[in-house]
Amino acid sequence: MLKLTFFGVGNGDSILIEFPNGQLGMVDSCNSSILKKPAAWNHILDKNLAFCCMTHPHRDHYAGFLDILKSPRIKVDEFWYALSDLDVIMDAYNCVLVRCGIDTSATLSREEERTGALIDLFTFVCNSDQGLSAKEFTDVHYRSFGDVEIVIFGPDPEYWKQYKERLIEKRKKGELLNRDYENAISVALLIKYGNHLIWLLGDILEPQMLNMPERQKKCLPKETREWGVCASVIKIPHHGAKNAWFSEMAKMLTNCNEKNVIIFTANGGAKQPNPQVWEYWNNTGKRIHGTWDQNNLKRFKNSKSWALDSLEDITICPQEPRNVIVSIHEKGDIFVEEETVGVSERD
Ligand SMILES: [Zn+2]
Repeated sequence: MLKLTFFGVGNGDSILIEFPNGQLGMVDSCNSSILKKPAAWNHILDKNLAFCCMTHPHRDHYAGFLDILKSPRIKVDEFWYALSDLDVIMDAYNCVLVRCGIDTSATLSREEERTGALIDLFTFVCNSDQGLSAKEFTDVHYRSFGDVEIVIFGPDPEYWKQYKERLIEKRKKGELLNRDYENAISVALLIKYGNHLIWLLGDILEPQMLNMPERQKKCLPKETREWGVCASVIKIPHHGAKNAWFSEMAKMLTNCNEKNVIIFTANGGAKQPNPQVWEYWNNTGKRIHGTWDQNNLKRFKNSKSWALDSLEDITICPQEPRNVIVSIHEKGDIFVEEETVGVSERD
């Protein structure tokens, strides 16, 4: 059995994959507002992770990785990422420092803080002497874990080139790059187990999704070309934002069975999922599940009007933080459980 746990972090992604042969992998790691540490923490302590995959360099996807990598109680074999170019990250950081007048004693701005955290993460990955191997994924790659095969769609090379050029151009002007550019370089994973395909789509945006079938045909290893891209389980990209949606999405990316499982990993801070995207998927008649956690929003509600708005907007989602657990049987059914993130897990 292949088991995927989508942790209810509310503002981001944290997905634990348990392979049938006992190996473990993590795709993104956001912190839990209840545990105040990586949401998967209690599940991975004293374990070995075959890989940690950072889909893209946004904090709602990587904030928990440094704690995991540093922990002497968790062994990680590989760190997967697409944004390999530390110079590019440094450029982004410098850009902020220039804009802020290089007075780092000032309160860190949101941008500065998150870029600084990314540099801390990469500095650790690059200097680790604990057997951690850093794997850069550009374009398309293929890996297997026992009976489970994974195609890793790194950033489209053409888009990646544009990303770097745009970043340099913005830096010259002392401006920041629109964060959508980093969503567009998000890694997407297509996982095959028995009869089932599973899409973990990171925060990838619409144009990149539309490219998938063509990239798959061109770049995949021969044995995987006939897979297609029609999955029975989808982790909706970009938390159900409108810019990661198109009207033919269900037809193109799912196998059009009503038993398909659709998982939204909410990002309340950015008002995602978008109510129309949520409604679109609900109208397909498929099984829809969402992770949710209002605690992250409540922290801001006295000072930030968008947080209040978001709290009102998210009545479409479950009210309590919850994990969504998907169990996939090689040739059989897919079972889904939702569990409220319990008080017993508080520390
Ligand atoms: Zn995100």
